[in-house]
Amino acid sequence: MTTSITFSGMRIAIIGAGIMGCASALELRKRGADVVLLERAIPGAEASSAAAGILGAQMESHGPGPLVDLFIRARSAYRAWTDELRETTGIDCGYRPTGVLRVEYTEKDAKILRDLAGWQAAAGLRAEVVDAKRARAIEPEVAEDVVLGAYFPDDHQVDPPQLLRALVAATSRAGVEVRSGVTVERVVVEHGKCVGVAIAGSSEKELRADAVVLAAGSWSSLVPGAKDAFAEVRPVRGQIVQLEERPPKLRTTVIGAGAYAVPRGDGRVICGSTLENAGFRREVTAAGVQSILNGTLKLAPSLGAATMAATWSSFRPHVTGDAPLIGKSDLPGLFLATGHYRNGILLAKITADAVADAIFQK
Ligand SMILES: Cc1cc2nc3c(=O)[nH]c(=O)nc-3n(C[C@H](O)[C@H](O)[C@H](O)COP(=O)(O)OP(=O)(O)OC[C@H]3O[C@@H](n4cnc5c(N)ncnc54)[C@H](O)[C@@H]3O)c2cc1C
Repeated sequence: MTTSITFSGMRIAIIGAGIMGCASALELRKRGADVVLLERAIPGAEASSAAAGILGAQMESHGPGPLVDLFIRARSAYRAWTDELRETTGIDCGYRPTGVLRVEYTEKDAKILRDLAGWQAAAGLRAEVVDAKRARAIEPEVAEDVVLGAYFPDDHQVDPPQLLRALVAATSRAGVEVRSGVTVERVVVEHGKCVGVAIAGSSEKELRADAVVLAAGSWSSLVPGAKDAFAEVRPVRGQIVQLEERPPKLRTTVIGAGAYAVPRGDGRVICGSTLENAGFRREVTAAGVQSILNGTLKLAPSLGAATMAATWSSFRPHVTGDAPLIGKSDLPGLFLATGHYRNGILLAKITADAVADAIFQK
């Protein structure tokens, strides 16, 4: 049994209402803190709602180590978390136990899959090396020229826009003060300690707080006053193409050929993605869409008959070394929930718990 640390009477300001800010706000509020969540635009509208929603703990793990352990713990906590959000808000977060099938098309690349499934199985995780026939039994739409696959049945998915709707509703219902359209201009530092935030265009110029949580995603390093307290966070653009199949055919998340396709079960298939250093340029580009469609149609050729329903892009918050920034920063009073790069949806709940623990122990 885990015991939650509580801290009633504490005032906490959170910068950014993406999945990290919202999840942290909810957890801190549950433990008794007074929480103000500050969002310059619309809660949940940036990277968190743009994500494909793969809970790819195994799919994203390249070798044993602490990051894998974190991913697996995060995944284990997910179903209960989304169940709880549905019970409190009535909003379904689209949790679906679809599994992930990764495939390769050449013998050379197939070795990578054998190695991957090998160390994961040795670590006690469910990972199955599958030949082309078995791959097509798991997912009949997968291409015939696949040489080998690795199946991760425990890597599930959520529907990020739905999850964010539920999370924002739960946060507000729990008593978090959610302020939208409010830009944090800087963190306020006095005598070497972060004591609050300065807010743009508000009569209340400063908001004093016992602790400040920086959860500004790809913009975290742009908040003045804070950037020297942690490693730099940079944006990595990702583009998505949403296809619509009528009737739905694809049923398993498939990945390979530099792309993935995530079926929502109702005909929507989320196809991604690019990894681009494009600063904060939001374009969906011809080359981006081309590479996503080339990859996904190679994975599942029947998607060629699907219609193009939507495209979008957003920014993954990346820190050199790929490890997210969670908990204390180098500036006392300032805590971090940022830099989750490709796995922020997966890591949200576990990050919120860690941030709450760190604040109490400060
Ligand atoms: C195309 C794509 C696909 C992805 N797929 C997956 C996936 O399948 N699985 C997975 O686990 N992860 C995935 N991710 C990664 C995941 O989306 C991110 O890691 C996660 O959403 C980051 O959440 P965040 O709350 O840190 O950032 P964001 O959601 O970007 O939120 C940051 C918020 O801070 C606000 N803000 C910034 N500056 C200020 C300021 N000064 N004052 C007030 N507010 C401010 C912004 O407006 C924004 O709302 C994907 C990302 C992309 C782009």
